[in-house]
Amino acid sequence: MAYRNGQRLSLDEGGAGAGPVLRLSVNPRARRLSVRIDARAGEAVVIAPSERGLTQAVAFARTKAVWISERLAVRPKGRPLEPGQVIALRGRPVRLEAAPGAGAARLVEDGTVIRSGGEGEAYARRVESLLKREARDTLLERTDHHLRALGQAPVRVSIADTRSRWGSCSPHNRTIRYSWRVVMAPPPVIDYLAAHEVAHLVHADHSPAYWSVVERLVGDHRPWRKWLKDHGGALHAVGR
Ligand SMILES: [Zn+2]
Repeated sequence: MAYRNGQRLSLDEGGAGAGPVLRLSVNPRARRLSVRIDARAGEAVVIAPSERGLTQAVAFARTKAVWISERLAVRPKGRPLEPGQVIALRGRPVRLEAAPGAGAARLVEDGTVIRSGGEGEAYARRVESLLKREARDTLLERTDHHLRALGQAPVRVSIADTRSRWGSCSPHNRTIRYSWRVVMAPPPVIDYLAAHEVAHLVHADHSPAYWSVVERLVGDHRPWRKWLKDHGGALHAVGR
């Protein structure tokens, strides 16, 4: 069978279409076959140097089927926040449950369950406000931690739902703004984001001097930047 650039097929052998989707991509500059996860699209991508190499690339991707399925399974689905769904909070799974009445969302059962009243939109709104409160608490704490480490005066922190950025810092106004969605990420990723914004109080750019301040705060930051790149799309899909 001849494959084409851009073609999508099921990762399962002889795929009936139920398994994860594999997108075929040709990049003449690629030196070898590689597979990556496109979290935003919710599919795996296999890259080959030429269209002729795609047959081998598909076979290669199928040897990685377990890894691909696992990576795509941890991706939170882009569907409404509703009872029965499992989302992540500080990197740990949390199940959404309904409570009778219209009460506010609460984190219960040792933080493994969010229970909320309300129905439909009202339910989703209550869960989202809880996640925003959790985001504020965690991000304020990590921001203060990094401010103290750098001997910086306090800043004003706000929580938003920006689609394009995880955070921003205005050194002039001494304000930092975060996307609440990062609270779904594992703690080291949240910590890195706070360090990233606090370090901008020292250097407003992304120069090597800036990155060395970030490194002083959190050590090697590359894994956490990669995590955001790989999973960012999935976090942005939650509740939409
Ligand atoms: Zn930055």
